[in-house]
Amino acid sequence: MLKLYNTLTRKKEVFKPIKVGKIGMYVCGPTLNGIPHLGHAMSQISFDVLRRYLIFSGFDVEFVSNITDIDDKIIAGANEAGIGIDEFSEKNLKAHTVEYEKLNIMKPDVQPRATDYVKDMIGLVKKLEKKGVTYLIEGDGVYFDISKFDDYGKLSGQNVEDLEGGKRVAVDGKKNNGDFALWKLAKEGEPSWDSPWGEGRPGWHIECSAMSEKILGLPFDIHGGGSDLIFPHHEDEIAQSETGYGKEMAKFWVHNGMVTVGGKKMGKSLGNFKNIEDLDYAPMVIRYFVVSNQYRKPLDFSKTALDDARNSYERLKRLCLAAKDARKSEVGSRKSEEKVNEKYLKMFEKEMDDDLNAPRAMAVLWKLVRDSDADGKVGTIRKMDEVFGLELLDKEEVLIPAKVQDIVDEREGARAGKDFARSDLLRDRLKDMGWIVRDGKDGVEVEKG
Ligand SMILES: [Zn+2]
Repeated sequence: MLKLYNTLTRKKEVFKPIKVGKIGMYVCGPTLNGIPHLGHAMSQISFDVLRRYLIFSGFDVEFVSNITDIDDKIIAGANEAGIGIDEFSEKNLKAHTVEYEKLNIMKPDVQPRATDYVKDMIGLVKKLEKKGVTYLIEGDGVYFDISKFDDYGKLSGQNVEDLEGGKRVAVDGKKNNGDFALWKLAKEGEPSWDSPWGEGRPGWHIECSAMSEKILGLPFDIHGGGSDLIFPHHEDEIAQSETGYGKEMAKFWVHNGMVTVGGKKMGKSLGNFKNIEDLDYAPMVIRYFVVSNQYRKPLDFSKTALDDARNSYERLKRLCLAAKDARKSEVGSRKSEEKVNEKYLKMFEKEMDDDLNAPRAMAVLWKLVRDSDADGKVGTIRKMDEVFGLELLDKEEVLIPAKVQDIVDEREGARAGKDFARSDLLRDRLKDMGWIVRDGKDGVEVEKG
């Protein structure tokens, strides 16, 4: 029986779906103001493992994860880059899609884009207006009055008195310091939609409220995201959805921990930011690094930690493939069903059932591959890897970092186009990075030099 930590109740609870066998799950996806960083990898992989484990446990999961393609940060980023907003967000969307695929993240069943649901967002703001919880600030936008929602603060445990700001008059015209924009009136040159309050665009929080209700209906089973979204984003989603639709929003609120660098918070302004494409490690090594950490704990990035993850992953994969080879020679060409080792699988499930304790479940896998007496090894590895998603039984390949692979591919292109000068140049560049390419008759071989 799966137990999950629910941020809303602040305890581990037995997970029971609202409808028998069927789960609705919504996870806040990326805002397209930049390329994916290690924080995205952490959140994507954590919820991918949760989703895979629910499927493994026999549930039918509808997994929804949105794309925020309109936002202050996107407008600012596009202006800074000197390109149009659409071009800017498309470029970032592509970068996210490519990296997530490399990290073996299952595609969402539904991936709504905020700009496709503006009508629904306006509809929700209208409902909120009818309930008398909104107010307009001239020339600025429509705001939610948090003092009108009694449960405000229930998710994050924030002290509402502080947020309401007592008798102080908020300088920007808000009634309470914690009030947030539902609809932002357009400034010159910004993308905008027509609305009863004037041309403008939705606030960020209203996007998730409207899209999750439209696609999954309320309440749904699991709402996920990074723990940095608990406040204000998720608190505000709850205020809007529960007031506007008059129903509870979600039963379980699940949050992954944050990435730290040398024990310190990772952030653009702190100068310790790690984009995925800059990491000199294969995607599966990054995935192993994330999976080996319990999802609620902070994930501390360091070169040593990732080097360790690479060594462990390589060793684990070698042991898994050796088990596969041994089975092949044992079975020969006979067709035989792949058995599973019930004892090890039970141990694995026991750890995963405990709020997805993947590091301990991983230790079970290590024990299995080292146990020379265990039967059903390959079948069991395969089952466990349905959850870990680490491609442990896929044919062996050199673990090449993505940016090295990109140059190898580019060199292949140059060779195909008979541009040998360019191909030699790229070969030298690879050599400088510590990789050697050889052109064999079965194609290109790449190895660490
Ligand atoms: Zn969201």
